[in-house]
Amino acid sequence: MAYQNFESVDIDNVYSPVKDGAYNPLMLEGVARQINRLANKNIKACGCSYEVYIANFSLSVDRIVSQAKDRDLRATILYVARECDYHSPEEVDEMRQSCLDAGLCVHGIDPDCCPAGCGDLP
Ligand SMILES: [Zn+2]
Repeated sequence: MAYQNFESVDIDNVYSPVKDGAYNPLMLEGVARQINRLANKNIKACGCSYEVYIANFSLSVDRIVSQAKDRDLRATILYVARECDYHSPEEVDEMRQSCLDAGLCVHGIDPDCCPAGCGDLP
């Protein structure tokens, strides 16, 4: 994966924890820079499908959040990721179901035109 280097970063040692329950501006800036970089990598790899971008970006964010030990850091990551259209796993499931209900594949594309071959499935 192109963003594997980002995910291997021990993010808890990169940022200092938030004090007094407020967002630390340095943490926010650092997280925003990395999350935006992750979003840009996923935009380039989504094949112009918004649904693919959302699913892949959100999965990457969930993995990073699960590795972050600090509660405030997790909240900061999710706050920043929402600005980049992060969807929770439940929201991704709802989005995929909406696509299927509309006659599209889970990638948000006409199944017969999907480069992943969704139209070829039985
Ligand atoms: Zn598809």
